[in-house]
Amino acid sequence: MDHVLPPQDNDTYKTLLESTKAIPWKLDWASKRFTYIGPQIESLLGWTQDSWQSAGDWAARMHEEDRDRVFNFCISQSLQGLDHEADYRALTADGGFVWIRDVVHVIRAANGEPEALIGFMFDISERKQTEQQLLDLQKQLEVLSYQDSLTGVANRRMFDSVLEKEWLEASRHQQPLALIMIDIDYFKQFNDAYGHLKGDEILKKVSSLLSHAGVRANDFFARFGGEEFAWILPETDLVSAGKIAERCRHLIFKAQIPHAHSAVSQLLTISVGVGSIIPSATDQMNDFLADVDRLMYHAKHQGRNRIVLQEEV
Ligand code: GH3
Ligand code: MG
Ligand code: MG
Repeated sequence: MDHVLPPQDNDTYKTLLESTKAIPWKLDWASKRFTYIGPQIESLLGWTQDSWQSAGDWAARMHEEDRDRVFNFCISQSLQGLDHEADYRALTADGGFVWIRDVVHVIRAANGEPEALIGFMFDISERKQTEQQLLDLQKQLEVLSYQDSLTGVANRRMFDSVLEKEWLEASRHQQPLALIMIDIDYFKQFNDAYGHLKGDEILKKVSSLLSHAGVRANDFFARFGGEEFAWILPETDLVSAGKIAERCRHLIFKAQIPHAHSAVSQLLTISVGVGSIIPSATDQMNDFLADVDRLMYHAKHQGRNRIVLQEEV
C-alpha cells in the first residue's frame, strides 16, 4: 500500500488539512486552549488564526442565542468521552454570522478523562438557508390550505374546523352559537350575462363587503363554497345575529352592483338564513348546519333578496 502516507510526513498532513474547506482544530482539555486551528478560519469568519486562543474565544464568537446550549452540550458530551456534533451561528469579525457544524472527536487519556478535542468546522450556511426556505414554504402552504385562493378569506376547510371548535365551546359553556348562511341570488345568470371573469371579480367584491359585517374579534367569516358565504358568531343570540345579517344585506345593497338579469332586482342581491343554538348533549353540529342552510333556501323560495330567521319558519 505505497499510496498510504507515512505517519511522519507531517508537512503533507498539514498541507492536506489546510487545503480542505472544513476547518480543523485541536483543543487541549486541561487548559482549554487551542493547540491548533486551520488558517482557513480567517477567510471564513474574519478573525485571525492566532486570535483563537481558548475555548472562551470560541464561545464568545458564537451567537448569544446558541451559546449556552452549544457550550453546555459540548462540555457534557466531552466529559462523557462522547464524539459529538453541534450546529451554531459563529460571529464574523464584521458583525455578521455564519452557520457552522462542528464535528468533534474526544481523545481520552488512559484514566478515561478527556485529554484533547479534535474537530472540524464545516460551513453549513447554504444547508441552513435551504432548511429555512423549506420552513417558510411549509408555513405558506399551511396558510394557503386554509385560505380561499380567489377571495383570500378563510375557506371551507377552515370553516369546518372553526365551527367544530366553537360548537364545543358553546356546548361546554352553554352559550348561544349563531350561524349565518349567505347565497348570491341568480349568480348563474350573472356569469351568463357578464362572463365568468366578471363573476370572479364580483365574488371578490362581495366577499370583501360581507367580511366587514362582523363586529367582534371572534366573529368568523368564510367562503363556504361557490357563491356562498358564512358567518360563525360565538356567544350570539338570534336577535344579534339577525342584525349582522341585516348589515350583510345592507352592505351589498349599498355597493349597488348591477345585475340586469336577476329576476328579483336590477341589483345584485343575497338570500340569507340565520340560526342560533345553545347546544344540548343530544344536538348535532351537522344538523344545526343543515337547519341554517335550509333557512337560506326558505329565503330563496320566499322570493330571494331576504333574510329568514330560525323562528320565522
Ligand atoms: P339562486 O338564486 O337560486 O342561488 O341561483 P344561482 O344561479 O345563484 O344558484 P346556483 O347554485 O344554481 O348557481 C351558482 C352559480 O355560481 C353557478 C356557478 O357558475 C357560480 N359560481 C360558483 N363558483 C364560482 C366562481 O368561483 N366564480 C364564478 N364566476 N362563478 C361561480
Ligand atoms: Mg348556491
Ligand atoms: Mg346562488
